[in-house]
Amino acid sequence: MKIQNYINGGFVNPIQNNWIDNYNPSNGEIYGQIPNSSSKDVELAYESAKKAFPSWSKMTLEHRSRILIKISELLEANLEQFAAAESKDNGKPLSLAKKIDIPRAASNFRFFGNAITQFASESHESIGQGAINYTLRQPIGVVGCISPWNLPLYLFTWKIAPAIAAGNCVVAKPSEITPMTAYLLGEICTKAGLPKGVLNIVHGLGTTTGQVIVAHPDIKAISFTGGTATGAHIARVAAPMFKKLSLELGGKNPNIIFADCDYDDMLETSVRSSFTNQGQICLCGSRIFVEASIYNRFKKDFVEKVKQLKVGHPSDASTNIGALVSKPHLEKVAEYIEIAKEENGKVLCGGEIVTVKGSENGYYLQPTVIEVPTDECRVNQEEIFGPVVTIMPFNTEEEVLEMANKVKYGLSTTLWTNDLKRTMRMSTQLQSGIVWVNTWMMRDLRTPFGGVKASGVGREGGFEALRFFTEAKNVCIKYE
Ligand code: NDP
Repeated sequence: MKIQNYINGGFVNPIQNNWIDNYNPSNGEIYGQIPNSSSKDVELAYESAKKAFPSWSKMTLEHRSRILIKISELLEANLEQFAAAESKDNGKPLSLAKKIDIPRAASNFRFFGNAITQFASESHESIGQGAINYTLRQPIGVVGCISPWNLPLYLFTWKIAPAIAAGNCVVAKPSEITPMTAYLLGEICTKAGLPKGVLNIVHGLGTTTGQVIVAHPDIKAISFTGGTATGAHIARVAAPMFKKLSLELGGKNPNIIFADCDYDDMLETSVRSSFTNQGQICLCGSRIFVEASIYNRFKKDFVEKVKQLKVGHPSDASTNIGALVSKPHLEKVAEYIEIAKEENGKVLCGGEIVTVKGSENGYYLQPTVIEVPTDECRVNQEEIFGPVVTIMPFNTEEEVLEMANKVKYGLSTTLWTNDLKRTMRMSTQLQSGIVWVNTWMMRDLRTPFGGVKASGVGREGGFEALRFFTEAKNVCIKYE
């Protein structure tokens, strides 16, 4: 099957007729081709977005909102088709795509369709000067949205929905590794009545198609989610052009467990926060620190539970762990297990590549727990982004706080404790954009989402996203 670019409301082949193979991670087979788009395709997308901008940006909020909500409804109506496509493209369990990925993509459109109708700007009365200031929040124009492969449609729409809700027109690129649901989204947008040119989806490699979007002089803002090294590169390209930038990057998140927590809830959630989506979520708690008094108990119970997770074909209803997204990624993750061994880490369970019957060439890996001798080893410091977690004990709050903060990343932290004062103390001192206390990945789309340090710049979510996708203009009126 050939995927096409979605430009000016229609599907088109790449101008230079270059294509890239698309792999099915569950069996390693090529099952389609996607455009290897060049600067000519990006230019076409840009021109169509530019043409659409004057009328889209002036359309009433109610009208815009209705279209976004219609897209959301159509995604829900086509849940089965989209979930199957996501699972096939990414290797994630079909059950997960049905429960999380596609419903959340639909929520993104519904949420921002509603949020834009509530978005307000400030006014400041300059008392004693006889003047009033108000702030206009105006759409930027044509913006670029670039997303990764781990939660393909979920993260793609998390950018597109606020961008168009705020009145911008978009040139977007999904990951070349998982393009399928972004392709299907085009048709839904047309059916929902999104005017042509408001959203343009260009497929291709990050280093060519993505690079052209970032370097385009008239694409004035870039919203990017992906790896930290790519984010740094994008910042270098975009900064001299004074583009607005939102960067959601990697993570190496601590899962901190105190002895006074609700043990059963913690245990069950820690399995999820370690291995959901094969551990390929930027928010996964990949460094587990356990208070020494319950360390041995946790180690035994956790390993026992992890061993019960079933690695299998994504479409098998009993599968907990599907395929990793690609062969190079599988090899990278497996290499980290070898690095852990060289650094005197002890593999408590997993660690092996799995052959799934009938899908022998798929990219499967056992969920792996590594006991590390120190928090400073590479597997504890570098983002692995697969089904691999480390565990180690700690003795004091100060000690675990220091270890939690001693990485270059700062995306999220999970804290397990029932001590309110400790919760407050630690939450203020943890260097991360999100602190979950006694839960993991509980999301309210109104909250600011993003990381500190090498995990990114800027915040997505709620009005933060609408602020990013608008320019603030101060108007000062003297009336006396
Ligand atoms: P990459 O950084 O490799 O790619 C992300 C996107 O950027 C892809 O669409 C990619 O295209 C594109 N890209 C690559 N190079 C360039 C370039 N020079 N210019 C413009 N675009 C480019 O990340 P992955 O896809 O491997 O995703 C995994 C990473 O994403 C992990 O580090 C993870 O932590 C992070 N992530 C962060 C989240 C957050 O919210 N903070 C959420 C989810 C993931 P292509 O795939 O075609 O190369």
